[in-house]
Amino acid sequence: MKQFKTESKRMLDLMINSIYTNREIFLRELLSNSSDAIDKLYYKSLTEGLSGFTRDDFAINISVDEQARTLTVSDNGIGMTKDELENNLGTIAKSGSHDFKENKTGENADIDIIGQFGVGFYSAFMVAKKVEVLSKAFGAKETYLWSSCGTEGYTVESAEKDAVGTTITLYLKDDEGEESFGEFLREYKIRELVKKYSDYIRYPIKMLVTTYEYDDVECDCQGECTNEEHHHHTPKQVKKEQTLNSMTPVWRKTKAELSDGEQEKFYKEEFYDPQDPLKVIATSAEGAVDYKALLFIPKTIPYNYYTKTYEKGLKLYTAGVMITDKCADLLPDYFNFVKGVVDSEVTLNISRETVQHNRQLKAIAASLEKKIKKELASMLENDRETYTEFFDNFGLSLKYGIYTSWGANKDVLLDLIVFKSAKTGKYVSLKEYADALSVGQKAIYYACGKSVEAIKAQPKVDCAIEKGFDVLCLTEEVDEFCLKLLAKYNDLEFKSVESEDFTDGQVAPEIDKAVSDKILEILKGKIVEVKLSQSLKNHPVSLTSKGDLTIEMEKVLSKIPSGQGAVAEKVLEINANHKVYNKLIETVSTNEQTFESLVKVLYGQARLICGLEIDDVTELTDTIFELIG
Ligand code: ADP
Repeated sequence: MKQFKTESKRMLDLMINSIYTNREIFLRELLSNSSDAIDKLYYKSLTEGLSGFTRDDFAINISVDEQARTLTVSDNGIGMTKDELENNLGTIAKSGSHDFKENKTGENADIDIIGQFGVGFYSAFMVAKKVEVLSKAFGAKETYLWSSCGTEGYTVESAEKDAVGTTITLYLKDDEGEESFGEFLREYKIRELVKKYSDYIRYPIKMLVTTYEYDDVECDCQGECTNEEHHHHTPKQVKKEQTLNSMTPVWRKTKAELSDGEQEKFYKEEFYDPQDPLKVIATSAEGAVDYKALLFIPKTIPYNYYTKTYEKGLKLYTAGVMITDKCADLLPDYFNFVKGVVDSEVTLNISRETVQHNRQLKAIAASLEKKIKKELASMLENDRETYTEFFDNFGLSLKYGIYTSWGANKDVLLDLIVFKSAKTGKYVSLKEYADALSVGQKAIYYACGKSVEAIKAQPKVDCAIEKGFDVLCLTEEVDEFCLKLLAKYNDLEFKSVESEDFTDGQVAPEIDKAVSDKILEILKGKIVEVKLSQSLKNHPVSLTSKGDLTIEMEKVLSKIPSGQGAVAEKVLEINANHKVYNKLIETVSTNEQTFESLVKVLYGQARLICGLEIDDVTELTDTIFELIG
C-alpha cells in the first residue's frame, strides 16, 4: 500500500467527509477528465498523422451494476501508464486546488474550495467508498489497476484490458438515512446529471438505457381497443444504447437553440464561480480569422486575482479538440479578467507547446481585443450602473495597461478609463469631462488623494469647483502615472490642481524677502522655492511641486526599491492671509530661534497634510514643545 502525499490526503479527507451538498458534480469531473483524455489522443493522432483514428470512434461509456452498487465511467482516450497513475492520482492535481493550503483558512474554507476549483478526480470519494482506475496507456503493452479506499493509501498492480483507455469504477457508499448514494445508480439520475453538467462534451456519452417497445400488431384502434389478443398496449422492456448528451457546445448554439440562462450556467460550471457573470459576450468572426467565442466578465474579483497565482487565458478549442485550458496569448494583460472559450474550426497548426508563436492565434487575439473593447465602450455609454460595477472591480487593470506599456495601449484603453468626479462623486469618462468643459477652462484638472472625500477637502479642489471646473479624483497609486503617460486627451492637457492658480490673476503679494531667504536657508535641500498663496483658504501652508515629478509620484516611488531617491521639487506655499505669516515677519529679525522652530513646524505640517512622511519625528515634536513652552 502506498501513501498519498500530505496535501492529497487532506483533500481526500475533505472529499470523504464532505457535507458539500453538490456532491453530484463528481460525475461531471470524471466525464470531463475522460473528454480531456480523448482530446489528447485525438490530438496526437492529428498532429502525428497516426492512422486508424476517426473522431466518430471516440466515446465515453457509463454503466451501472445495481447489485454490486457500482457506477463505471470508461473512455477510449489516451490512458495512463503506471507512473502516470501514481503521479496523477497519487498526488493532488495541478488544477489549482493545492492553492487552498496557503490561501484558505477558517471554518468554511474547505467548502469554498470545492466550489471554487475543479476538484477533479478526488471528488469521486464524495460518493464512493472505493475507487478503481483501470488504465491502458496509448502505446503501452501493460495495463494497470489503481485502487484506493481513501486516505489509507492506494495500490497499483498489473491487470488486463484489451483497448487503450481508462475505466473508472466507483463502489458507491452505503445509503445512510436521508443520504442516498444509490440514486447514482438510477438511469434517470445519470441522465439528469449528464444533461445538467456535461451536455456540451463533444464526444458521445453513452449508456444502456431502458426503453419500451410495443409489439408490432396491426390495429387501428388508436388505443381504445379492448381485444385481449392485441398485446400492443403492453410495452416490452428493452435495453438500448443511447447518447445522453447533445454534444453541441454552448458556444456553438444559436440564439434559438440556447435555453434560458444556459450561457450563465455554463460559465458558473466551467469557471467555478457561484455567481452569474456580469456580462456575457458571444461573438464570432469569419474570413481571415475564423472563430466562435463565448466570453464572460465576472461579477466579482476572483479570489486570487491580485496574486501571482492568477493566470489569465481563454480555453482554446480547434477542430473540436481542446488544445489548452488557458491560452494566455489570447488576452492582453489589461483584459486578464475575461474568461471564456474560443473555438476555431480552422485547424491551427500548433502544438500545445508552441501556441504562443502562432500567427493565426495572434489574429484571433487582436480580433477578440477589439470586440471586448467595443462591448465595454458600449456598456460605458449605455449601462453606467453595470460599468461602474465593472470598473470598481477591474478598472485598475485597464489603468495599469496604459502605465505598463508606457502609453502604447492608449488607443484601446483611453475611452474605457473613468475617474470619480469631484463634483458628482460618480465616474466620468475623459470624453464626458472634455465635452462638459466650463468657459475658459483649458485643461483637465485632477487631484490626488486617498479617497474622493479627502480630495474634496483639499483647498485647491475647492477653488477649482468654485470656478465651475470639475476635478478628476485620482485615488489609486497608478492614476497619476497613467495620466502623465497619456499627457493629453485630444488637445487638453492633464493638470494637477496643485500646479494651477485659480485666483484669476489676483496675484498673491510678493513674499517678504527676509522671510523667504531665511526659510530657504533653513529648509535647504528640502524645498526649492517658497511663496505666498491666495488660494489656501484656512490652511496656513501647503506643499506643491515644480517640474514633472509630483509629490504623489514621489510617494508611490518611495515604496519601490528602484524609486527611492526620486523626490519632487517642492514649493512651500504660505497662506498670505493667515496670521502665521505675520508671525514669521515679526520674528524673522527679532527672534531667530522662534522663527526657525516655526518654519520647521510649518514644513512638517505641510508634509503631513499632503501625505508625506516626516523624516525625524522626534525633532519635530521637540520643536513643537519648544514653541509651546
Ligand atoms: P485535473 O483534471 O484538473 O488535472 P484531476 O484530479 O481530475 O485533475 O486529474 C488528474 C490527472 O489525472 C489529469 O490531469 C489526467 O492527467 C489524469 N486523468 C484523470 N482521469 C483520466 C482519464 N480518464 N484518462 C486519462 N488520464 C486521466
